[in-house]
Amino acid sequence: MADNLLTIAENETDRLIRLINDLLDLAKIEARKLPLHQNWHPFTELVNTSIASLQGLAQQASVKLECDPLPPMEAYMDPDRVQQVITNLLSNAIKFSPKDQTVHLHCEVTDKNALLVTVRDHGRGIAPEDQEAIFQKFRQATNSRNPLVKGTGLGLAIAKALVEQHGGEIGLRSVVGEGSSFYFTLPEWRYNQQRASAPGSETSKAA
Ligand code: ADP
Repeated sequence: MADNLLTIAENETDRLIRLINDLLDLAKIEARKLPLHQNWHPFTELVNTSIASLQGLAQQASVKLECDPLPPMEAYMDPDRVQQVITNLLSNAIKFSPKDQTVHLHCEVTDKNALLVTVRDHGRGIAPEDQEAIFQKFRQATNSRNPLVKGTGLGLAIAKALVEQHGGEIGLRSVVGEGSSFYFTLPEWRYNQQRASAPGSETSKAA
């Protein structure tokens, strides 16, 4: 019984800490005082770490988390903030997936030579009239059928501001009843130095 109460108290404390951090982030973004610590950082490791850190949540929800293999790449970014964006998209996808479904992360290079990250789920999807609103703060989709799904409606507003501060774009494609694909881009990326300088390798974007 005591164990149970402690677990509840711990979960609630974590939830409040997340809420406070989100509110602080948003206040700083609105005051244009959220500094980014941007530099060239390994991108592939960051994706793998983000996936690994959410495996527990995926297991709890009986959702499979998959990622296509990525070549070693770097991006000009604030790694903590980009991880925050990936974590938000993945945790939403897990949260809104039915049991035994798969959440899939895929990275590719667009024809405008930006790095495109897509998180696809097979959840309930988002109605066209909600698709713009969910990127605004405190906004949630109106068709929430699961009262157990808790949230603040801040994650996507913060993710949008962070991606745009990196010079990228964020958006989604979704069909109600079929699922959603959230994506964002990072304009500054390159293959890892060793790979770029290896004979016959592709040239880096930054080179
Ligand atoms: P939160 O998840 O805390 O409510 P977000 O800003 O991350 O806040 O998301 C806002 C809303 O967008 C969610 O409440 C939900 O209605 C909708 N949403 C986000 N991601 C998904 C998804 N993958 N599938 C269905 N709905 C989603």
